[in-house]
Amino acid sequence: MSRPGHTVMPDLLSRIAQEYGTPAYVYELAAVSAAAAMLTADLPAPSGLMYSLKANPHPAVVGRLVTGGNGAEVSSPGELAAALDAGCPPEKIMYTGPGKDFQHLVGALTAGVRCFSVESLVDRDRLADACQLLGVHAEYLVRLNTPRGSARGALRMTGRPTAFGTDLANRQEIAALLRARGRVRPVGTHTFSATNVDEPAALLQEFRSALAAVRTVCGAAEFAPRLLALGGGFPAPMARPGALARHPDLAAGLKSELDTAFPGWRRGRPHILFESGRYLTATAGTLLTRILDVKASGGRTFVVLDAGVHVLGGMTGLGRLMAPSAQPFTVGGSGAGEETAVTLAGPLCTPLDVLNASARLVDPRPGQLLAVPNTGAYGPTASLLGFLSHTGPVEVVVEGARIHSARRLVISSEKVAPLV
Ligand SMILES: *Cc1c(COP(=O)(O)O)cnc(C)c1O
Repeated sequence: MSRPGHTVMPDLLSRIAQEYGTPAYVYELAAVSAAAAMLTADLPAPSGLMYSLKANPHPAVVGRLVTGGNGAEVSSPGELAAALDAGCPPEKIMYTGPGKDFQHLVGALTAGVRCFSVESLVDRDRLADACQLLGVHAEYLVRLNTPRGSARGALRMTGRPTAFGTDLANRQEIAALLRARGRVRPVGTHTFSATNVDEPAALLQEFRSALAAVRTVCGAAEFAPRLLALGGGFPAPMARPGALARHPDLAAGLKSELDTAFPGWRRGRPHILFESGRYLTATAGTLLTRILDVKASGGRTFVVLDAGVHVLGGMTGLGRLMAPSAQPFTVGGSGAGEETAVTLAGPLCTPLDVLNASARLVDPRPGQLLAVPNTGAYGPTASLLGFLSHTGPVEVVVEGARIHSARRLVISSEKVAPLV
């Protein structure tokens, strides 16, 4: 697995599979702490880091990150509740998202959240109305659709026509957003252009290009920002072996950029914030799955697992996120022998349930336990949990050799009041 020191021991993986069954996610908390420490060390100081809960909203993972002093970037009532339950103070929460429901805003304000990323005038005015209703004040960041800094990034958020932020060309809308209205006032900008940018120079280029746009926008409006949320894009290996990249030149590059554009930043004017989901959690997760069947078809070997796109990378399986390319290792057994190319299929009744069309395994057999490394980010909650109505996966939290907790994810329903 990825980093020595945070490997979940094969013995423990076998025990977990025996005790709780498969498929099972194992989250190793020391790996979460290690990732946070590495990213913090690579960012320019002074700055803050927010955990983006959508990567992994498990209470223990969120708890580890927010009690470590990070803020939380949340985008739904469920994520908000997870951040608060984990002990994140509301003043360290940023509420984001391109479509914010009025009742959700009321809920966030009632919980004490006062910082929102707003994506349009409609979004801002809805926030102002919610504040009016409750008699409270709030601050917001104007989310900008900034130009692309490079060609890289597995998934571009902005720099193209998108539902995210406000286009730089919509000058009047941006000017209006940079003026207070009612009980809400702008304090800065929010930019987040791409995710999983796996080339350090390209990542710096993304930040540079965003900062240049922010500087232009603020200059044109004679607006002095107090807070700049610069997003993230920090990469991590996904469902294959690999270690977290370090970014030794990022801090220096960003410092010189910030010194030019916003020289007060070293005194916290503006305060600089970053966001990350996958970097902080990806390497902490291991997915345990058992081989149900091995068969030959058309000259290929198909290995059928009990984990499919309902458990791992549902969006991946549908071709929405990344080419599916899970590469497990065998737990137990000698591991010696010739590797063969196999297609890793899941148990779902659809040809789309493929986790990798070209994985490599040594002598796969029914009953064998496999472990897919680096599955701590965008695991079960980015999957098709409800599809085919299988039982949800177990999530086991460990630290070193100790098992902290285990739970099973379920989809439940509740009655709603009938129309009268
Ligand atoms: C999803 C998201 C993130 C986290 O992205 P990662 O690639 O998981 O680090 C950060 N900020 C915003 C606004 C997001 O929507």
